[in-house]
Amino acid sequence: MIPVGEALATVCDAARILGVERVGLGAALGRVAAEDVRSTRAVPAAANSAMDGYAVRHADLAPLPARLRIVAVEPAGTVVDRAVEPGTAIKLFTGSVVPPGADTVVKIEDTEGSGDVVVVRAAPVHGANVRAAGEDIAAGSTVVTRGAPLGPADLGVLASVGCATVLVHRRPTVAIVSTGSELVEVDEVPGPGQVVNSNAYTLAAAASAAGATATVLPIVRDRDADIRASLVEASRADVVLTSGGVSVGELDLVKDALDTLGVERLFWQVAQKPGKPLAFGRLGDRLVFGLPGNPVSALVCFHLYVRPALRRLQGHRRLHAPIVEASLARSVRKARGLTEFVRVQLAWTDDGWLATPLPSQSSGVLTALGSGAALLVGPPTLDELPASARYAVIVLGEETLAREAPPF
Ligand code: AMP
Ligand code: MG
Repeated sequence: MIPVGEALATVCDAARILGVERVGLGAALGRVAAEDVRSTRAVPAAANSAMDGYAVRHADLAPLPARLRIVAVEPAGTVVDRAVEPGTAIKLFTGSVVPPGADTVVKIEDTEGSGDVVVVRAAPVHGANVRAAGEDIAAGSTVVTRGAPLGPADLGVLASVGCATVLVHRRPTVAIVSTGSELVEVDEVPGPGQVVNSNAYTLAAAASAAGATATVLPIVRDRDADIRASLVEASRADVVLTSGGVSVGELDLVKDALDTLGVERLFWQVAQKPGKPLAFGRLGDRLVFGLPGNPVSALVCFHLYVRPALRRLQGHRRLHAPIVEASLARSVRKARGLTEFVRVQLAWTDDGWLATPLPSQSSGVLTALGSGAALLVGPPTLDELPASARYAVIVLGEETLAREAPPF
């Protein structure tokens, strides 16, 4: 049995960044750039107007009101081949290129136009309402750095410089093997002693949410040959997730099957609750997680170990879920020697985050990990977590931190 920190370090160490592929911008959200992208263009390409109004020479605006002759109108998307000469103005719109000779744009609200004359009533500062060429992106500058996760703004930036595709790290493929002679499919009515294979759904969803492409293999009975056959099939994926059969019972055959297949076992059993039976190994570059069958244990192990590995494979540098500090609403008893991940609900109070333990901490109670749940980390040295102390809480999703309203 190894400590949680050692287990996590082993997993992260074993996960190697996958290869690259070129994808269209429409498929690039959340992917990690595998190249530096330099822009050959400036954005904006030319100085343009931030307002609807008139391009003028600032020197012409004193004294006020100033009367200027309108010599051209330039809607966005067109460019007039005229300059703004002394005593003249060119009417333009947001985004219109600022014509030569002009140094300032007067917004329409500060003018009165009639026919081909505009009267300027208030003068802005020199250079007002002009967006400089290259204000956003200078030609030759790097707009995306290798290793950066691509968000909506990054994709917009790439589009603005004419990059329709981008080189990113591949998504990992994940194969899910559910073991257990008691398991039935979701559309079957469980007979006596049978349970629905819910882990396949939980794990496939968690894998997709972490950016992987998940394949669920058919349920496997607790029979050595069946487990091995399924694992052979599964090991075509970058990551294999088995569920169940990894504990110490005589029907827990997964570990032996992994050994037989030549999976190099890096650890089995972690000093934690839930999820103590977790096994982890490597088959070449492929990662194999033997997750416990209990639904809570399987998902907690996914959050703690599988998700960081999947992120690392995709090239992410930030691997772990965010942590907040919280106090406990009531004390919690725990096993000394194990790190305990207490399922809690967070609430924001005047004293900061308050974590309320969910009523059932059983590893079979999956409802306790529903939307909004978080994991409070109970250190292995303690056998009781006092309410007064502050604890690290692992944030599992956006809903965990939901507050009533935004601060405005
Ligand atoms: P095991 O780790 O195989 O000893 O399983 C522990 C518990 O988890 C048992 O109660 C199983 O019925 C349950 N379990 C195992 N696999 C699954 C699964 N795929 N979906 C839901 N529950 C499961
Ligand atoms: Mg089992």
